[in-house]
Amino acid sequence: MWIKENLEKIKVTLPKGITLVAVSKTKPIETIREAYEAGQRVFGENKIQEMTQKWELLPKDIEWHMIGHVQRNKVKYMAEYVSLVHGVDSLKLLKEINKQAQKHNRVIACLLQMHIAKEETKFGLNPEELEELIASSEFRELNHIKIKGLMGMATFTEDALRIKNEFQYLKTTFEALRKKLDGIEILSMGMSGDYGIAIEEGSTMVRIGSSIFGARNYS
Ligand SMILES: *Cc1c(COP(=O)(O)O)cnc(C)c1O
Repeated sequence: MWIKENLEKIKVTLPKGITLVAVSKTKPIETIREAYEAGQRVFGENKIQEMTQKWELLPKDIEWHMIGHVQRNKVKYMAEYVSLVHGVDSLKLLKEINKQAQKHNRVIACLLQMHIAKEETKFGLNPEELEELIASSEFRELNHIKIKGLMGMATFTEDALRIKNEFQYLKTTFEALRKKLDGIEILSMGMSGDYGIAIEEGSTMVRIGSSIFGARNYS
Protein backbone atom coordinates (compact mmCIF):
# COMPACT_ATOMS: atom_id res chain seq x y z
CA MET A 1 0.00 0.00 0.00
CA TRP A 2 1.00 3.58 -0.63
CA ILE A 3 -0.61 5.21 2.36
CA LYS A 4 2.58 6.52 3.93
CA GLU A 5 3.77 7.95 0.60
CA ASN A 6 0.37 9.50 -0.05
CA LEU A 7 0.30 11.11 3.40
CA GLU A 8 3.76 12.53 2.92
CA LYS A 9 2.90 13.88 -0.51
CA ILE A 10 -0.11 15.69 0.88
CA LYS A 11 1.63 16.98 3.99
CA VAL A 12 4.36 18.78 2.06
CA THR A 13 1.67 20.78 0.27
CA LEU A 14 -0.08 21.84 3.49
CA PRO A 15 1.05 25.15 4.99
CA LYS A 16 1.92 25.06 8.68
CA GLY A 17 -1.02 25.15 11.04
CA ILE A 18 -3.43 23.32 8.75
CA THR A 19 -4.85 20.15 10.25
CA LEU A 20 -5.16 17.10 8.04
CA VAL A 21 -8.15 14.92 8.81
CA ALA A 22 -7.60 11.52 7.17
CA VAL A 23 -11.04 10.41 6.05
CA SER A 24 -11.11 6.68 6.72
CA LYS A 25 -14.81 5.94 6.18
CA THR A 26 -15.44 2.48 4.69
CA LYS A 27 -11.75 1.59 5.19
CA PRO A 28 -10.77 -1.38 7.36
CA ILE A 29 -8.85 -1.29 10.64
CA GLU A 30 -5.59 -2.48 9.06
CA THR A 31 -5.65 0.40 6.61
CA ILE A 32 -6.17 2.94 9.38
CA ARG A 33 -3.41 1.31 11.40
CA GLU A 34 -1.06 1.78 8.49
CA ALA A 35 -1.79 5.51 8.45
CA TYR A 36 -1.42 5.58 12.24
CA GLU A 37 1.99 3.96 11.97
CA ALA A 38 2.94 6.63 9.45
CA GLY A 39 2.20 9.20 12.16
CA GLN A 40 -1.37 10.21 11.35
CA ARG A 41 -3.48 10.81 14.47
CA VAL A 42 -6.63 12.58 13.23
CA PHE A 43 -9.23 10.49 11.41
CA GLY A 44 -12.66 11.36 10.03
CA GLU A 45 -15.66 9.06 9.72
CA ASN A 46 -19.19 9.69 8.52
CA LYS A 47 -21.11 6.95 10.35
CA ILE A 48 -21.22 6.95 14.13
CA GLN A 49 -21.44 3.19 14.59
CA GLU A 50 -18.57 2.50 12.21
CA MET A 51 -16.46 5.16 13.95
CA THR A 52 -17.26 3.68 17.36
CA GLN A 53 -16.20 0.20 16.32
CA LYS A 54 -12.93 1.62 15.04
CA TRP A 55 -12.40 3.69 18.20
CA GLU A 56 -12.81 0.54 20.29
CA LEU A 57 -10.19 -1.37 18.32
CA LEU A 58 -7.55 1.28 17.64
CA PRO A 59 -5.05 3.19 19.85
CA LYS A 60 -6.63 5.72 22.17
CA ASP A 61 -4.45 8.65 21.12
CA ILE A 62 -6.38 8.88 17.86
CA GLU A 63 -8.63 11.93 17.52
CA TRP A 64 -11.91 10.89 15.94
CA HIS A 65 -13.83 13.47 13.94
CA MET A 66 -17.43 12.93 12.92
CA ILE A 67 -17.61 14.56 9.49
CA GLY A 68 -20.94 13.24 8.20
CA HIS A 69 -24.55 14.03 8.82
CA VAL A 70 -25.32 13.25 12.46
CA GLN A 71 -28.37 11.25 13.46
CA ARG A 72 -29.56 12.49 16.81
CA ASN A 73 -30.40 9.05 18.18
CA LYS A 74 -26.79 7.95 17.64
CA VAL A 75 -25.00 10.82 19.36
CA LYS A 76 -24.88 8.79 22.58
CA TYR A 77 -22.50 6.26 21.02
CA MET A 78 -19.78 8.82 20.30
CA ALA A 79 -20.25 11.21 23.24
CA GLU A 80 -17.56 9.53 25.32
CA TYR A 81 -14.73 9.99 22.87
CA VAL A 82 -15.44 12.12 19.79
CA SER A 83 -12.97 15.01 19.36
CA LEU A 84 -14.83 17.19 16.90
CA VAL A 85 -18.27 17.03 15.29
CA HIS A 86 -18.11 18.80 11.91
CA GLY A 87 -21.66 18.49 10.66
CA VAL A 88 -23.86 20.30 13.17
CA ASP A 89 -26.74 22.08 11.47
CA SER A 90 -29.52 22.48 14.01
CA LEU A 91 -30.16 23.61 17.56
CA LYS A 92 -31.99 20.35 18.18
CA LEU A 93 -28.84 18.39 17.36
CA LEU A 94 -26.67 20.69 19.46
CA LYS A 95 -28.98 20.14 22.40
CA GLU A 96 -28.65 16.38 22.05
CA ILE A 97 -24.84 16.60 21.81
CA ASN A 98 -24.87 18.84 24.89
CA LYS A 99 -27.04 16.38 26.81
CA GLN A 100 -24.89 13.36 25.96
CA ALA A 101 -21.64 15.29 26.64
CA GLN A 102 -22.95 16.22 30.08
CA LYS A 103 -23.41 12.54 30.92
CA HIS A 104 -19.70 12.05 30.32
CA ASN A 105 -18.68 15.28 32.00
CA ARG A 106 -17.29 16.58 28.74
CA VAL A 107 -17.47 19.63 26.54
CA ILE A 108 -17.72 18.44 22.94
CA ALA A 109 -16.18 20.65 20.25
CA CYS A 110 -18.47 21.24 17.27
CA LEU A 111 -18.43 22.99 13.92
CA LEU A 112 -21.56 24.43 12.38
CA GLN A 113 -22.06 23.20 8.85
CA MET A 114 -22.97 25.84 6.31
CA HIS A 115 -24.74 25.10 3.04
CA ILE A 116 -22.44 26.59 0.41
CA ALA A 117 -22.96 24.32 -2.60
CA LYS A 118 -25.50 24.47 -5.38
CA GLU A 119 -26.64 20.89 -4.80
CA GLU A 120 -29.85 20.47 -2.85
CA THR A 121 -28.65 17.26 -1.25
CA LYS A 122 -25.94 18.76 0.89
CA PHE A 123 -26.81 19.54 4.47
CA GLY A 124 -26.08 22.77 6.25
CA LEU A 125 -27.34 26.08 7.52
CA ASN A 126 -28.05 29.20 5.52
CA PRO A 127 -26.94 32.60 6.90
CA GLU A 128 -30.34 33.38 8.44
CA GLU A 129 -30.43 30.04 10.22
CA LEU A 130 -26.90 30.59 11.52
CA GLU A 131 -27.88 34.01 12.89
CA GLU A 132 -30.98 32.64 14.50
CA LEU A 133 -29.13 29.73 16.08
CA ILE A 134 -26.35 31.72 17.70
CA ALA A 135 -28.70 34.43 18.87
CA SER A 136 -31.07 32.07 20.65
CA SER A 137 -31.13 31.98 24.43
CA GLU A 138 -31.28 28.18 24.37
CA PHE A 139 -27.98 28.08 22.49
CA ARG A 140 -26.30 30.30 25.04
CA GLU A 141 -27.28 27.93 27.84
CA LEU A 142 -25.50 24.91 26.37
CA ASN A 143 -22.42 24.45 28.55
CA HIS A 144 -21.33 21.06 27.27
CA ILE A 145 -20.73 22.01 23.65
CA LYS A 146 -18.23 24.50 22.25
CA ILE A 147 -18.58 25.92 18.76
CA LYS A 148 -15.08 26.08 17.30
CA GLY A 149 -15.88 27.18 13.77
CA LEU A 150 -17.52 26.30 10.49
CA MET A 151 -17.51 23.47 7.99
CA GLY A 152 -18.68 23.39 4.39
CA MET A 153 -18.60 21.34 1.22
CA ALA A 154 -18.29 22.98 -2.17
CA THR A 155 -20.26 21.90 -5.20
CA PHE A 156 -18.90 18.76 -6.86
CA THR A 157 -17.77 20.33 -10.11
CA GLU A 158 -14.81 20.88 -12.42
CA ASP A 159 -15.50 24.60 -12.27
CA ALA A 160 -12.63 25.88 -10.11
CA LEU A 161 -14.00 29.42 -10.05
CA ARG A 162 -17.29 28.25 -8.66
CA ILE A 163 -15.52 26.26 -5.91
CA LYS A 164 -13.34 29.26 -5.12
CA ASN A 165 -16.39 31.51 -4.78
CA GLU A 166 -18.12 29.06 -2.48
CA PHE A 167 -15.08 28.77 -0.22
CA GLN A 168 -14.63 32.54 -0.21
CA TYR A 169 -18.19 32.90 0.93
CA LEU A 170 -17.63 30.40 3.74
CA LYS A 171 -14.48 32.24 4.81
CA THR A 172 -16.39 35.53 4.93
CA THR A 173 -19.07 33.92 7.08
CA PHE A 174 -16.33 32.51 9.33
CA GLU A 175 -14.73 35.93 9.82
CA ALA A 176 -18.10 37.43 10.66
CA LEU A 177 -18.80 34.67 13.19
CA ARG A 178 -15.45 35.32 14.88
CA LYS A 179 -16.67 38.78 15.80
CA LYS A 180 -19.76 37.34 17.45
CA LEU A 181 -18.53 34.27 19.34
CA ASP A 182 -15.37 33.51 21.30
CA GLY A 183 -13.09 30.64 20.40
CA ILE A 184 -13.87 30.46 16.68
CA GLU A 185 -10.70 29.09 15.14
CA ILE A 186 -11.45 26.18 12.81
CA LEU A 187 -12.53 26.52 9.19
CA SER A 188 -13.04 22.98 7.87
CA MET A 189 -13.08 23.08 4.08
CA GLY A 190 -11.38 21.12 1.34
CA MET A 191 -11.44 17.47 0.24
CA SER A 192 -9.25 15.44 -2.15
CA GLY A 193 -10.52 17.23 -5.24
CA ASP A 194 -10.52 20.80 -3.97
CA TYR A 195 -8.25 21.22 -0.95
CA GLY A 196 -5.72 23.30 -2.90
CA ILE A 197 -8.37 25.92 -3.57
CA ALA A 198 -9.66 25.63 0.01
CA ILE A 199 -6.21 26.40 1.42
CA GLU A 200 -5.85 29.43 -0.84
CA GLU A 201 -9.17 30.64 0.49
CA GLY A 202 -8.24 30.29 4.16
CA SER A 203 -9.04 26.74 5.25
CA THR A 204 -7.49 25.64 8.57
CA MET A 205 -8.59 22.00 8.34
CA VAL A 206 -8.82 19.74 5.30
CA ARG A 207 -10.70 16.43 5.14
CA ILE A 208 -8.95 14.09 2.73
CA GLY A 209 -9.95 10.52 1.99
CA SER A 210 -9.37 9.11 -1.48
CA SER A 211 -6.04 10.88 -2.06
CA ILE A 212 -4.68 9.04 0.99
CA PHE A 213 -6.45 5.70 0.96
CA GLY A 214 -7.49 5.31 -2.68
CA ALA A 215 -11.01 5.20 -4.05
CA ARG A 216 -13.76 3.95 -1.76
CA ASN A 217 -15.69 0.84 -2.50
CA TYR A 218 -19.33 1.18 -1.56
CA SER A 219 -20.80 -2.26 -1.81
C1 LIG B 1 -15.96 11.51 2.27
C2 LIG B 1 -15.82 12.90 2.76
C3 LIG B 1 -14.62 13.61 2.60
C4 LIG B 1 -13.41 13.07 1.88
O1 LIG B 1 -13.65 12.94 0.52
P1 LIG B 1 -12.47 12.61 -0.53
O2 LIG B 1 -12.97 13.16 -1.78
O3 LIG B 1 -12.32 11.13 -0.54
O4 LIG B 1 -11.25 13.28 -0.04
C5 LIG B 1 -14.55 14.88 3.14
N1 LIG B 1 -15.58 15.44 3.79
C6 LIG B 1 -16.74 14.79 3.96
C7 LIG B 1 -17.84 15.47 4.68
C8 LIG B 1 -16.90 13.51 3.44
O5 LIG B 1 -18.08 12.89 3.61
